[in-house]
Amino acid sequence: MFDDLTDLYQEVIMEHAKSPRNFREMPDATNIANGTNPVCGDNYTVYLKMNGEVVEDASFQGDGCAISKASASLLTAAIKGKTRTEVAELFDHMHDMVTTGNADERVGKLAAFAGVHKFPARVKCAILSWHAAKSAAEGKNETVSTEEPAE
Ligand code: ZN
Repeated sequence: MFDDLTDLYQEVIMEHAKSPRNFREMPDATNIANGTNPVCGDNYTVYLKMNGEVVEDASFQGDGCAISKASASLLTAAIKGKTRTEVAELFDHMHDMVTTGNADERVGKLAAFAGVHKFPARVKCAILSWHAAKSAAEGKNETVSTEEPAE
């Protein structure tokens, strides 16, 4: 039973990795951030069109592994129409889920990534675009890395 569920989730991830949604540049984006995961080689730009507090449109460009690409694809679909605060909350749920495996019902389809917690090296792949989206929504327009600065 659990294996079937895992297979189903893997299908969601593979399908989004093969045909990512909102995979395009956004010329009229108001908020942009880059996310990089040097360990895996994932590198994405997340584009948001914000209207006040609300994400009216979201898209991404870049390249990386299947998990990072599927995650970015589901991210852009998940945050459309959400407020800045809701994006931050969803980030927290997603982060909690990929590190603990506990899927909160509020994450919806993103539950496909709950199994990632069993593969610590892939957690950064799954959360990368979320770091970028959170940063973009906050208007920081920066490059975020999954690696903490060496200090
Ligand atoms: Zn990756």
